[in-house]
Amino acid sequence: MADRFFPNEMPDFVEEEKESSRAQPSTLLALLSLPYPKLADKLLKAALDLKEQVVKETWVKPRQRVNDYTLYTGALGTAFLLFRSYQVTGVETDLKLAGQIVKACDAASKGLPFVTFICGRAGVCALGAVVARHLRDEAMLNHYLSSFNEIKMPDKVPNELLYGRAGYLWACSFINKHLGKNTISSTKTSAIVREIINEGKKLANGGRCPLMYEWHGKKYWGAAHGLAGIMHVLMDMELKPDDKECVKGTLRYMIQNRFPSGNYPSSEGSKEDRLVHWCHGAPGVALTLTKAFQVFEDEQFFRAAVEAAEVVWNRGLLKRVGICHGISGNSYAFLSLYKLTGNEEYKYRAKAFASFLLDRANQLIAEGAMHGGDRPFSLFEGKAGMAYLFLDMVKPSESRFPAYEL
Ligand SMILES: [Zn+2]
Repeated sequence: MADRFFPNEMPDFVEEEKESSRAQPSTLLALLSLPYPKLADKLLKAALDLKEQVVKETWVKPRQRVNDYTLYTGALGTAFLLFRSYQVTGVETDLKLAGQIVKACDAASKGLPFVTFICGRAGVCALGAVVARHLRDEAMLNHYLSSFNEIKMPDKVPNELLYGRAGYLWACSFINKHLGKNTISSTKTSAIVREIINEGKKLANGGRCPLMYEWHGKKYWGAAHGLAGIMHVLMDMELKPDDKECVKGTLRYMIQNRFPSGNYPSSEGSKEDRLVHWCHGAPGVALTLTKAFQVFEDEQFFRAAVEAAEVVWNRGLLKRVGICHGISGNSYAFLSLYKLTGNEEYKYRAKAFASFLLDRANQLIAEGAMHGGDRPFSLFEGKAGMAYLFLDMVKPSESRFPAYEL
């Protein structure tokens, strides 16, 4: 369905000029040939301007009241963007403001039964703890860590990333990465890994795919609600040899049963080759396969990741800006391959998507040719996601898909 994305008319590769011959590049093509430091300066400036706009729209205008606390569409997404901005620029006011926003999210999420990083209270407590460590505020750090430990897994919790066990585990990995191994004990995390594996085997029921999961009655494959996201998180955990085989087998099953186009179905049995999003389709699967190659060193995963990224290049210039189902999120399929291989062609492709946004997004949204997002300043659906990508493009080798790549 051609109307979901813009035809990608950008060249497959453009050599960067050694020195810029133009004072003011005015076309997309000119942006692509700029010496990288010059483009990075432009992206950084645009990111910081956008960040100010996001803070104004999501924090100042609502008078610091938090209705939606989530990282996905709410205030925690603004805090996460501010934290990234602090990491890139070292400006402490961003860190302090991130701390204030997390505090408001803490109050807004208390007692709610959602357990993940992206859509739940685990994200609030985990980010709160990490921001507190950077602020050198021990009392705040202890508050968030003990709040994190009070989170109870409801009985009927799904396994996927946005609302389920995988999303809680990701929060544990985030804390352990930033605050030290075993801050959240491996006893706790391995018990959850066990539950995920057992439930996956139960639903797979000895079929061709070793692990299978359901969310709202559908067996999703994508990163947000399905196999790609769950396998991605599992690969960050200590797995037993049998469990590793289950993860590998699940990924091989997906590769063998993808669409002839190279794209991936959004759910088991779906015949509709339509979505090229991080949430559903090749971009999210590409990230998982790139990681699988790093973890298992099996060339099959690398080849499949490259093929998935090719789908993203051809059909991933979406008519949306965000991280979840927009151009910003899709750019990370190239960035993860660039980090793995150091191949400049992947950096170029990420740069091309980012430059397309830099050059055209505002105008296309104003003209109605591009959707600004239902929550236009949010991290996962709106312009905060674009700001996040631009910040990551300053040093592409240190980029990470927000709240997904550790
Ligand atoms: Zn989405």
